[in-house]
Amino acid sequence: MNPYLDAFREAAPARALSRRIRELTARLPAERRSFRIMEVCGSHTMAIARYALRDLLPPDLELLSGPGCPVCVTDPGYLDAAIELARRGVRVFTFGDLLRAPGSRASLADARAEGADIAVCYSPLDAVAAARAAPDRPAVFLAVGFETTVAPILAAAAAAEREGLSNFTLLTAFKRIPPALEALAADPALGVDAFLLPAHVSAIIGAAAYEPFVQTFRRPCVIAGFEPLDILYGIEGLLRQAVEGVARVENQYNRVATSGGNARAQRLLAEWLAPEDAAWRGLGVIPGSGWRLREERAAFDAARRFALEMRSGRAHPGCRCGDVLRGALRPRNCPLFGAVCRPENPIGPCMVSSEGSCAAALRYEVGER
Ligand code: SF4
Repeated sequence: MNPYLDAFREAAPARALSRRIRELTARLPAERRSFRIMEVCGSHTMAIARYALRDLLPPDLELLSGPGCPVCVTDPGYLDAAIELARRGVRVFTFGDLLRAPGSRASLADARAEGADIAVCYSPLDAVAAARAAPDRPAVFLAVGFETTVAPILAAAAAAEREGLSNFTLLTAFKRIPPALEALAADPALGVDAFLLPAHVSAIIGAAAYEPFVQTFRRPCVIAGFEPLDILYGIEGLLRQAVEGVARVENQYNRVATSGGNARAQRLLAEWLAPEDAAWRGLGVIPGSGWRLREERAAFDAARRFALEMRSGRAHPGCRCGDVLRGALRPRNCPLFGAVCRPENPIGPCMVSSEGSCAAALRYEVGER
């Protein structure tokens, strides 16, 4: 039991922080219409909704949920490719969040219901174990995630490599957070004033990894943990910077994240991956925002092994996930929210994932019925 857990949720410091946030907001330049803070972390999105943190903030302070859910930002074309693979008889392994995310015409769950061999696992090592147990059958792990998830997936692939398991491969759709921040900050229509930076991603890449972004785009940034007080402290830090007229990276999650990050994980990433352009749902193709397997690791690339053509997919015409993921639309303003689109009948990935903005809004802000 974490001895600090109760403190992270105590009412008195939350009220004090709420007052401080209101004071700081009142000191912002008068011509500013509102101050817009974006979080790019699905766990922040869920915590903000779950603890009703917006209720503690002044009305001229907006919290926008950005593209912090890896399942949500994955292009439907990736899911189409994974489904095609499974329908060819290849065993496919995935984390549970991806199972019901809609591809262009179907989800992995639909394909599984039709008989495709798709297994949900809690660790990529489960897929390695399956490859070991049946060496004659290919096993493909759906490798989707930000820096946090990439490291353990590569650790599993490295274990397969050490064992000489030639039937284990990855279908990759890895994403990098810093290039996405640049794309968001460069979009004048979004008007993001400051960024609440993700905790776990920062534990891997380190606080210093954001310095080039802050130097270029001059936006206050704070790395914050997931507890309610972490997030309120983070917001207070962002406002403090804005009032002082400065922009820097503050690390309020230094109980886990360091300036340099996790050197071992970074070595693994560098050994296995090279940056590439990647398509994000809602944001389009962002230069250098993805990772491909290096040439020397091509044997682990399922797309190559199975000659899969990766094409851009089509979302449901009424789904506004793209706008939700850019912070341009609140989930409840999607015409399908809560009526047509619900967790048991998701039209878009933001309603599927446990970190999705629409799922969070329906569950905690509207009250799931
Ligand atoms: S409510 Fe459903 S359809 Fe609308 S944006 Fe959210 S996930 Fe997409």
